[in-house]
Amino acid sequence: MPEMIAVERALALVLEAARPLPPAEADLGEAEGRILLEEIRADRDQPAWDKALMDGYAVAAADVAAGQELAVGATIAAGADPASLAPLAPREAARIMTGAPLPPRADAVVPVEQSRAGAAPERVRLDGPVRPGDHLARRGDDVRAGATLLDAGDLLGAAEIGTLAACGRIHVKVGGIPHVSVLATGDELVPPEEVPEGGRLRNSNGPMLEALARRAGARVTSLGIARDDQKGLRRALEAGLDADALVLSGGVSMGLYDLVGRVLREAGAEILFERVAIRPGKPFTFARRGRTLVFGCPGNPVSSYVIFQVFVRPALRRLASHPRPEWTPIAGRLAAPVTQRPGRAGFVQVRARWHGGRLEADPVPTSGSADLASCARGNALAVLTPSVAEFPAGSEVPVILLDDHADR
Ligand code: AMP
Ligand code: MG
Repeated sequence: MPEMIAVERALALVLEAARPLPPAEADLGEAEGRILLEEIRADRDQPAWDKALMDGYAVAAADVAAGQELAVGATIAAGADPASLAPLAPREAARIMTGAPLPPRADAVVPVEQSRAGAAPERVRLDGPVRPGDHLARRGDDVRAGATLLDAGDLLGAAEIGTLAACGRIHVKVGGIPHVSVLATGDELVPPEEVPEGGRLRNSNGPMLEALARRAGARVTSLGIARDDQKGLRRALEAGLDADALVLSGGVSMGLYDLVGRVLREAGAEILFERVAIRPGKPFTFARRGRTLVFGCPGNPVSSYVIFQVFVRPALRRLASHPRPEWTPIAGRLAAPVTQRPGRAGFVQVRARWHGGRLEADPVPTSGSADLASCARGNALAVLTPSVAEFPAGSEVPVILLDDHADR
């Protein structure tokens, strides 16, 4: 019987085997969700000129303090060339729009809301007090040329992409996208579009694992279903062994037709472990051949789902150069009691929500390890330490907030 190892040890072995892929170059439009692998510095001061922060009048503050009407000279729109602007004459204001460059001698902007028409056309009366620096930004106030804006290791989200655009970085160095092949195994499986007859059932794990892999940032190839015979399984499996990771479901427990381990050995893969002290999901095989990682997930759908979340997702994130590939659990409180047989770490589907400043984790009713819909009703996993059997309501437990449920 293969040795059963602790979750932490198994995860360490998985992450050790998962080496970041070679860096890639991405265009701005395809960079979202990837990891930046270079430092980004501002190419110029932002703003690149002194600019108005309100629609109104550019003035010399001292002119307004005198309480006089000012003559309205130029009108300056955003986009005007700062070099083309004439200095304000004494007791002159320029009509100015948000984002437009200030003319020479102007040292404040008075918002249009603080202006009234003057006694004659093209004259304006401005309400004080006005201080130098009001409603304007000086060149470089936001960012100085050469300042670091983004760091290697940053995840590229919307704000980061906008930042790259603002400094003209339309190509950036990023982590690679892992290529994942997914293969379901089992004589009993039919594709989802078929009506199962006799003792058959639909392949739900394949599409689920593919969705999870895509969600974790991978490019996915579906290898469909392999039958439980050594030759067929070997052929199907070889097709997936040129990917960065091959994710299998089924065929890893103790049954007569659980051939995945045998076929992996035959294919020259190195098996790193075959049993993990986790519930659900004890029979979980992790292997590698060359640079390809192989995850033999259990056939039970809930087990497969949990094993992917706990082990495969961190591995894929590491391949993609994520600096923190593992989940970061948050302390939560169980809303109802939970019991388990001690000996393995429990990963329990819960519905987590913030309540009075605390994360409350409500266990989701489930009919067992085939009940994928119970995972759909949950949005998080509560982690139960292996040595404890009873967790009364109110117990504090680590909770993993699953990202594909964040807004449910
Ligand atoms: P196995 O690990 O192959 O013995 O499968 C364990 C259980 O999971 C059996 O009841 C299988 O029918 C079921 N199962 C295996 N693969 C799948 C799959 N791709 N989709 C849904 N159920 C599966
Ligand atoms: Mg099977």
